[in-house]
Amino acid sequence: MTSALTLAEQVRSGTVSATEIVERHLAAIDESDGAVHAFLTVLHDAARRQAAEVDRLVAAGQDPGPLAGVPVGLKDNLCTRGVPTTCSSLILDGWCPPYDATVVQRLRAAGAVAVGKTNLDEFAMGSSTENSAFGPTRNPYAADRVPGGSSGGSAAAVSAGLVPLALGSDTGGSIRQPAALCGVVGMKPTYGTVSRYGLIAFASSLDQIGPFSTTVADAAALFEVMAGHDPLDSTSLNRPAPRSMGSLDDGVDGLRVGLPRELIDGVAPEVAARVAQAAEVLDAAGATVTECSIPELSYGLSAYYLLAPAEASSNLSRYDGVRYGLRVDGDDVEAMMRATREAGFGAEVKRRIMLGTYALSAGYYDAYYGQAQKVRTLIINAFDHAYRNADVLLGATTPTTAFPLGDKVDDPMAMYLSDVCTVPSNLAGHPAISIPFGTDAAGLPIGVQVLASALCEPLVFRVATVLESAAPPVTAPALAAATWSAP
Ligand code: GLN
Repeated sequence: MTSALTLAEQVRSGTVSATEIVERHLAAIDESDGAVHAFLTVLHDAARRQAAEVDRLVAAGQDPGPLAGVPVGLKDNLCTRGVPTTCSSLILDGWCPPYDATVVQRLRAAGAVAVGKTNLDEFAMGSSTENSAFGPTRNPYAADRVPGGSSGGSAAAVSAGLVPLALGSDTGGSIRQPAALCGVVGMKPTYGTVSRYGLIAFASSLDQIGPFSTTVADAAALFEVMAGHDPLDSTSLNRPAPRSMGSLDDGVDGLRVGLPRELIDGVAPEVAARVAQAAEVLDAAGATVTECSIPELSYGLSAYYLLAPAEASSNLSRYDGVRYGLRVDGDDVEAMMRATREAGFGAEVKRRIMLGTYALSAGYYDAYYGQAQKVRTLIINAFDHAYRNADVLLGATTPTTAFPLGDKVDDPMAMYLSDVCTVPSNLAGHPAISIPFGTDAAGLPIGVQVLASALCEPLVFRVATVLESAAPPVTAPALAAATWSAP
């Protein structure tokens, strides 16, 4: 896969037209996505129109932007005006948003071309993309394995070479976990740096939009295009977003890297071995690597699985058969709403709504939701403490490599455990990146995770760049499209 920045450079300099690049990727999607099922909707006509507009600007001597002509996949929980936005749920059947998400607008303004909407776990709840009402996505490295989730379609699309860039959302790991399992770069920004306007809400205090790419520089470029204050999102930080592009190659000499036991112990031995290898790379590049312990991280998963469902139960109350998508008739309004929600939501979404409603209910609120909020504060404080002795933290992204389709669908607890290394950064609102770092013996990708404190994106990208340059070479996935090439 030619990097997004290289493609954009070719378009801006007039070497290759945006139309040619977009046609090449649309053809790859048409040919290869039957096996992967990364896309729910492919925007052939709109993408062609947008590419032609980029070419017109180039011909007129104007700059179409830093991502000129680069095909992008959008997770299907991002609102696209007039284009079905399903969240992989039957309850949004037939709904087309009347507006574009802020990130969609910013991508277009930067010259990027949206080529399609990608598959996800219903309402982004899941870790395997098997909770999609439209069927699972397959891992490009092994068709019988999951791509991870919930942004599995975006991760698989980039992994298979169908698009050089994609957007996902990360509430508890949904960018980093599928990135790790599919062998691509995935990054969750600091909460508030990227506007959530037009991102269909799952758990509003945790949700962030972020990039998927094949290179760290591409992820940084996409992040910079998206980031920055947006008055339409009340949680958007009203200050300039951190800039990383200028310091990507500054290296790690003198940096302090913490290796928290909690992000390594208990993961599969082959994954732990890659984290150790990554630590050696940073050490050799001049960083001081120190093992540490942040015991509070072990409580992250329990807190997350109370807070996220609590917020979801509130956010999803809007799907009532009146305002969006599906309506199943009933004798009165209440029967209609009950029948609509019964038919429209899948099992995992119903489970979360019930868990969340329970955690928020009178009599249980203090014991569950209130307690989880306190644990969240403990985790934030523990991170703050750790960052007094470390500039960044390094650990595993996921406890295992990609697991077989069907393996965990009947065991929600086992599925939830896939997020054990990623949820702490969401609870703290901190940035974190997963970058591909070799494979296991079966050839399945392994990701290592770099975490940092709020607004330290430049550090995250710098460390990731060093790891990327020393990572074992990436091999082509079994389901690679004709557009795939080694990064
Ligand atoms: N897998 C986690 C969950 O099911 C995280 C999902 C996400 O980040 N959207 O909630």
